[in-house]
Amino acid sequence: MKALVKAKAEPGLWLEDVPEPEIGINDVLIRVEKTGICGTDLHIYNWDEWAQKTIPVPMVVGHEFVGEIVEVGSNVHDFYPGEIVSGEGHVVCGHCRNCLAGRRHLCAETVGIGVNRTGAFAEYIAIPQTNVWHHEPDIDREVASIFDPLGNAVHTALSFDVLGEDVLITGAGPIGCMATAVVRHAGARFVVVTDVNPWRLELAKQMGATRTINVSQGSQELRVKRQEPERRNPLDSQPSTLNQQPTSHGDQLLKEVQSELGMKEGFDVGLEMSGNASAFRDMLANMCHGGKIAMLGIPSAPIAIDWNTVIFNMLTIKGIYGREMYETWYKMTVMIQGGLDITPVITHRYPYNEFEKGFQVMKSGESGKVILDWSGV
Ligand code: NAD
Ligand code: ZN
Repeated sequence: MKALVKAKAEPGLWLEDVPEPEIGINDVLIRVEKTGICGTDLHIYNWDEWAQKTIPVPMVVGHEFVGEIVEVGSNVHDFYPGEIVSGEGHVVCGHCRNCLAGRRHLCAETVGIGVNRTGAFAEYIAIPQTNVWHHEPDIDREVASIFDPLGNAVHTALSFDVLGEDVLITGAGPIGCMATAVVRHAGARFVVVTDVNPWRLELAKQMGATRTINVSQGSQELRVKRQEPERRNPLDSQPSTLNQQPTSHGDQLLKEVQSELGMKEGFDVGLEMSGNASAFRDMLANMCHGGKIAMLGIPSAPIAIDWNTVIFNMLTIKGIYGREMYETWYKMTVMIQGGLDITPVITHRYPYNEFEKGFQVMKSGESGKVILDWSGV
């Protein structure tokens, strides 16, 4: 079968012929129809430091998919050929304390599809029956193919009650954009989204953001200060240090937007979806007392923060990984059936053999979700 393989320990992916997967008695064989490209796949493509120490070579990559069951193992009684399904990307151990208690998303032995084991960028994928999600017939196939990242957005967005609350989302990547639509659907009052990429902020607007902020542009107040020559030290030929600081100005911009919106006490809920240190610090500085932060974004290095803000403002910070099995999947389905529309986040579609175009557009930053179609193989 055709598959996208991390065939060599260097940047790139290779379209190759590989053997079809064999199924065990508890497995389900799925004919892949559509796949989503995840930021993780881009890391693997680029062969960065994380990929080098994580990904076995050679391996079929990819984990966001929808497809049709073609065969089930002899011990599988609840799934049938012909069903449209996706796969939960985290294969859990089943016997640790958390797994036994039904908290599978907290399993400490998680194995990632397309990361630690054979992935979905292929004609067929075999996964354990415990990882199969049956789609209701009214779920759009493209939307079904990105249930995995939508699940990240939903898991994060629903971690804290947002009904009537003011929500700050840092990072308007595909997941931040989907989370915008989710918290809107879930009844938030204001949803303010920050990024440094105007293209993506435009997408966040389409997904329902009340305000978007480009934190790479100076705040109104700081802009004014910059234009005032009298603020410079006349004895100094250099511009003031303020003008030289390459800060994001996010903190100030967020305060300005809060005041424009008539907010008085800060954001009630923060969803960190950028992995960026200054985005997180700006968020901390703009939360209300007792505010709650769900952190999905993965920082590339440790982040130092002012812990006094966390302590004296009594903030709650919760790390988020993956999706809850299978409450998040249930919520995704019923929210979509109830009118949640995430389709604007799907911005590019290519046949599988034009995968390079998909990775290039992802690299450009001017994309939401990019879908590869495997139906023509
Ligand atoms: P992405 O990289 O496409 O989006 C991140 C966005 O943050 C980009 O649009 C980028 O421009 C923006 N950004 C950069 N600097 C910023 C700043 N200073 N302020 C505000 N925004 C800034 O990623 P994605 O696919 O949307 O995923 C979002 C994050 O979640 C990533 O960090 C990803 O690694 C992480 N992730 C975590 C999990 C998990 O289970 N915890 C799962 C999937 C993704
Ligand atoms: Zn476990």
